[in-house]
Amino acid sequence: MALTISEAEIRQVVSQVLNKVQSAPAAKDWDSTQYAGRKLIGIYEDMNDAIAAANEGYKAVRSMTVEQREKIITEIRKLTYAEAPIMAKIGVAETGMGKVEHKRLKHILVADKTPGTEDIVSNAKTGDSGLTLIEMAPFGVVGAITPSTNPSETVICNSIGMIAAGNGVVFNPHPNAIATSNYAVDLVNRASKAAGGPEVLVCSMKKPTLESAAVMQSHPLIRLLVCTGGPGVVKAVLSSGKKAIGAGAGNPPVIVDDTADIKKAGKDIIDGCTFDNNLPCIAEKEVFAFRNIADELISVMLKNGAYKIDAAQAEQLAKIVLVEKTGKDGKTRKIVNRECVGRDADVILAKIGVNVSKDIRCIICETDFNHPFVQEELMMPILPIVRVDNIDQAIEYGVKAEHGNRHTAHMHSKNIDNLSRFAKAVETTIFVKNAPSYAGIGFGGEGHTTFTIAGPTGEGITSARSFTRQRRCVMADSFRII
Ligand code: NAD
Repeated sequence: MALTISEAEIRQVVSQVLNKVQSAPAAKDWDSTQYAGRKLIGIYEDMNDAIAAANEGYKAVRSMTVEQREKIITEIRKLTYAEAPIMAKIGVAETGMGKVEHKRLKHILVADKTPGTEDIVSNAKTGDSGLTLIEMAPFGVVGAITPSTNPSETVICNSIGMIAAGNGVVFNPHPNAIATSNYAVDLVNRASKAAGGPEVLVCSMKKPTLESAAVMQSHPLIRLLVCTGGPGVVKAVLSSGKKAIGAGAGNPPVIVDDTADIKKAGKDIIDGCTFDNNLPCIAEKEVFAFRNIADELISVMLKNGAYKIDAAQAEQLAKIVLVEKTGKDGKTRKIVNRECVGRDADVILAKIGVNVSKDIRCIICETDFNHPFVQEELMMPILPIVRVDNIDQAIEYGVKAEHGNRHTAHMHSKNIDNLSRFAKAVETTIFVKNAPSYAGIGFGGEGHTTFTIAGPTGEGITSARSFTRQRRCVMADSFRII
């Protein structure tokens, strides 16, 4: 009997083997310029030099056929597949955040589901006055700012889309994830060379700073800024005077009503909330549960790796995971403690003297609506649950907790009126029904993936076409064939 094995199965086996043979790299084996003694390509000390090199990359892409661009993208996908375990491990080792296996899966998702050149579609209009052709052209050199939460995933996802669109790219990555980000920049350049493209196609900084970001934002060769990060950086690029795509913060609420499949809802919410220790901006951040199903929902969550803390413990934890900071305006506000972001649930619990096993993946607690766990984007596996009386209160709370970010919201329900009402009221870029949050970026849900979800500027689930500008060519009175 012939044994058939699918491509997906082969890939799974290959990545499992790679995962085993590639042990966690020692800290001395990598930094922002080298990995295991191999110099990373495309890394510069000065942002002006990086932009000049990215401009050469842009010129090279411009002179390529679309088929050649696609060859480079195919090579990027292959290398991402093969080296996902390495990037996952450096990502966790460098930032101290997230889960290696989940980061590996995020890279596979990027390799599989980031659209390439097929996403760029031309248009034609014909009529009595002739033919008008509309084509989607590159901007030129794109300046991209990337986060610490999905560092190499964002660099590779952005690179595929931006190169597919015909652009050059210079990155100013998050300083806390610079080795991981630059590993990905080098991977893209290795893919380019292997596919017959230029040796340096995309560029980055040895030591990115706010100053290097400022140089990028005002440089005449930078025609488009793409920023993935928190509110501060999105505001900075939107004030730059250049065309900018802003992918900012979220605080995704989840509503669970009394028509939901509670067993599935409880499991889905814990799975989504704990994916990469809650680092994805789309991950479930607070739950509004109908009062009559809340106990059952909590008990399902407890069976799926959650640990419930009481109100006093929640107060204790709040003092640790949120710290006070005085801003330039002299006002003191609570900000998230970076030492807790993306950490394992047991590590966070240990900070309040609670010792649990590694099997505990999420900390749950019941709070009121005004609790900081509900209001702040924690980005760690702590999930507050607020009991609500009815759908009106659930929607009111869900909309308020989302803070107008228009980012992501989730709902578990079989009542189509309730689902439609919340979707309309919350106005988010992504709305996931009856699934874990990651279904919203194509992981177990239909549609392409991105790690740059541009709510504020409206591009949404960005892809190659988001990084293009429209151009029109008119032939008056001719070129019709009918
Ligand atoms: P962050 O805001 O701390 O940093 C993002 C990047 O901006 C970094 O490269 C940082 O060095 C830079 N930066 C910060 N302030 C700047 C300024 N004033 N000018 C220029 N550059 C500046 O983000 P982070 O902690 O790495 O990521 C977490 C945040 O990003 C969360 O709020 C999360 O929701 C958001 N995020 C959004 C998306 C999305 O697709 N919408 C994706 C990932 C992360």
